[in-house]
Amino acid sequence: MGEDGYFKPQMRKVPTGELMQPSRKTNGYGVQAEDTRICVVMVGLPARGKSLIAQKVVRYLGWLSIPAKTFNVGQYRRSNTPTPTAEFFDTSNAEGERLRRVAAEAAVDDMIRWFAAGSGIIAILDATNSTKDRRRWIQERCDAEGIETLYVESKCDDEDLIMSNILEVKTTSPDYKGQDPEKAAQDFRNRIKNYEKVYETIDEDESHMTYVKLINVGKQVIINRIQDYLQSRVVYYLMNLHIKPRSIWLSRTARFLEYEKLEWKALDELDSGVCDGLTYAEIAEQYPEDFKQRDDDKYNYRYLGGESYRDVVIRLEPIIMELERSENILIVTHQAILRCIYAYFMNVPQERSPWMEVPLHTLIKLTPKAYSTIEERLKADIPAVSTFREKGSLAKHQ
Ligand code: ATP
Repeated sequence: MGEDGYFKPQMRKVPTGELMQPSRKTNGYGVQAEDTRICVVMVGLPARGKSLIAQKVVRYLGWLSIPAKTFNVGQYRRSNTPTPTAEFFDTSNAEGERLRRVAAEAAVDDMIRWFAAGSGIIAILDATNSTKDRRRWIQERCDAEGIETLYVESKCDDEDLIMSNILEVKTTSPDYKGQDPEKAAQDFRNRIKNYEKVYETIDEDESHMTYVKLINVGKQVIINRIQDYLQSRVVYYLMNLHIKPRSIWLSRTARFLEYEKLEWKALDELDSGVCDGLTYAEIAEQYPEDFKQRDDDKYNYRYLGGESYRDVVIRLEPIIMELERSENILIVTHQAILRCIYAYFMNVPQERSPWMEVPLHTLIKLTPKAYSTIEERLKADIPAVSTFREKGSLAKHQ
């Protein structure tokens, strides 16, 4: 990070007269993160989508190769109190308060250890963090470790939405294991009431802090004191999220569709450089070293004069933002590009994503749900050449 607090792009000095060899292996985060460490502190009453937001941010950052991890205080609390009733969350319940504090401390301790271990860049502290006092304590802990903080408050006063959130995800929470869903929903409403008694929204007193407030699922967004590029990327991502039911359809077939189409240059196929137009057998013969390198690390391998999967992910980022904003949408594009988009929605680890099977004449329907994405595959009855190649094999052409 530069002295002015902004990321500096990574520069390499090339001595005059020396030819720079094009890199065949791509690494890094796309931005130079160096020593930046950010704790994203979720804030808000229960059933305001905090865990959903946390989990999406981690998936998005992971897709971009930015190491991120969620620390969910509820999970720590479950180790001492697995199935609490609403009274446990009443602030006049001293033992409940103590146990909740123990859980928050354990989560923050683990988060600090995770950062200290070296590779972590963004931690998400997923809890209600609903009082100024609690936020002050988190701030002190992070300041002492040189960790930046970004508070993300989700506010929502749409009673119908909150009720449907409770029914959608809370009645099946491990907190209510084996219990009647109606009783669970009622208890959860009482839990929220207990939090409401002490809830303090982020206000002018906290204007020195970096925060974003998402009001009624992004209908209004308030942003305060964003400090650097990585924080602004997280905030921009949050601004694009919505929770309307929808599906994303992916396909490699679509010539005959008589609908209005929008063309995006960013969806062009992975550029295979000098290997463009060659079969796998020809690549293996003419560029044996490259063929092996690609098999060893297909995600990072960059074709001579072309691209790697990592390069493709970087150019696809604006597409992901657009897909987050959109409702139902069909994307028709090439194999490598579909693999990258699929990996984002299905949380496929990098090393596996370049090997995913995405056959021709098959529609993939992805339906985002609260904490996961449902996948369906619909095959058209059209014979097609498979362009899938398993690691280590020479079969077929891409
Ligand atoms: P808790 O404090 O109990 O952990 P939470 O705030 O983490 O609750 P989630 O478990 O994430 O809440 O709730 C998920 C539900 O919230 C989903 O049904 C999702 O559709 C909905 N949701 C997602 N984003 C928002 C938002 N910004 N405002 C309100 N509801 C949202």
